[in-house]
Amino acid sequence: MSALGHLIAARIAATGPITLADYMAECLLHPVHGYYTTREPFGTAGDFITAPEISQMFGELLGLCLAQSWADQGAAARFTLAELGPGRGTLMADILRATRGVAGFHARADVVLVEASPRLRDLQRQTLGDHPARWVDHVDALPDQPLFLVANEFFDALPIRQFQRIATGWAERVVAVRDSALGLALRPSAEPLPHDLPQGTIIETCRPGEQIAQSIAAQIARAGGVALIVDYGDWQSRGDTFQALRAHQYHDVFAAPGSADLTAHVAFGPLAAAARAAGAQATAMMTQGDLLQNLGIAARAERLGAQMTGTARDAHIRAYHRLTHPDEMGSLFKTVAFYPPDQPSPPGFDL
Ligand code: SAH
Repeated sequence: MSALGHLIAARIAATGPITLADYMAECLLHPVHGYYTTREPFGTAGDFITAPEISQMFGELLGLCLAQSWADQGAAARFTLAELGPGRGTLMADILRATRGVAGFHARADVVLVEASPRLRDLQRQTLGDHPARWVDHVDALPDQPLFLVANEFFDALPIRQFQRIATGWAERVVAVRDSALGLALRPSAEPLPHDLPQGTIIETCRPGEQIAQSIAAQIARAGGVALIVDYGDWQSRGDTFQALRAHQYHDVFAAPGSADLTAHVAFGPLAAAARAAGAQATAMMTQGDLLQNLGIAARAERLGAQMTGTARDAHIRAYHRLTHPDEMGSLFKTVAFYPPDQPSPPGFDL
């Protein structure tokens, strides 16, 4: 067992089985042994590749979508340009580069990055170079002003809980120790979940995600702005999607706590419901492929590609395909935007 595995086993021995949410939070963000605290997960040499690391076009198009929304909403004199969970900082760097020519956008923006890992904060600082930015731990610390925000593959890292329908009601799937290894156990639960589902059904919930959605949506409803949320998942939670990824391979979620990325598919329905309850509008869910096409990725790809030759051009075409094609990220990844009650939906979502 890893050092973190021993710590978690000791905690369970002392106080009993823990929820998957507690397990996930320990594995990802433990201050000494956590995955995001200690690892460099991104890119071909890491554990997974994200859209902004595949092509600069992703950040360019999302950045222009935010800038156009800012202009459409009256070009607020002061606003927050925020990202949740910026990883290496590539997406924000591309957003800033693509919007350099938008009159007033940079001068009026306070760039704020919401990042829990001190190590990744350093990396993001390096990527942004001398562009002024500030870091906060949580969305509740974002300034009270219009909020233009992007979150790519952030919500999938938030702690989930799993519930399983059993003969007598619902049970929670918790982490226990058996034969000195970590594994799943069931514990009766009073969680208010629908009762008309067949035995064996598994439902995942992500309250931290709903709270974050509600907080940013409340800010947008109050002061204006847009939030673009991109992630893999679907409208509703569908069964067990808790997974560990290491070196681009799926692993046992309990095998090596702290050394693999742990995620779950995002359920966009509950996020949209939380946003609407907070007074904002939420768009219909759209695939990443459709949004990027609506924002003009084909034309952008062609322009960029026209300046390239040989293997660079091949890689560029491959990246375009990877971001948009239904067999690659195009359909698995979905997107939803939040926007104010009295405003039109952001570009790309309005078709
Ligand atoms: N958005 C990036 C990286 C996604 S990985 C990209 O597209 O490449 C998830 C990111 O969220 C990491 O930066 C991780 O440190 C951060 N993170 C995970 N849980 C968090 C939390 N609870 N609060 C703040 N940041 C968190």
